[in-house]
Amino acid sequence: MTIGYCVKCRDKREIGGAKPYTMKNGKPAIKGTCPTCSTAIFRIGRG
Ligand SMILES: [Zn+2]
Repeated sequence: MTIGYCVKCRDKREIGGAKPYTMKNGKPAIKGTCPTCSTAIFRIGRG
């Protein structure tokens, strides 16, 4: 389970459907959606 910060809920949420994602600058990140409000959540790094 991956936790990210949802800017809409203003709280930490489990990232739904979290997938590895590489940003334009080549850095690894996680991309998914907030299970509460369906807003996209990004998290830097894969740790
Ligand atoms: Zn949310």
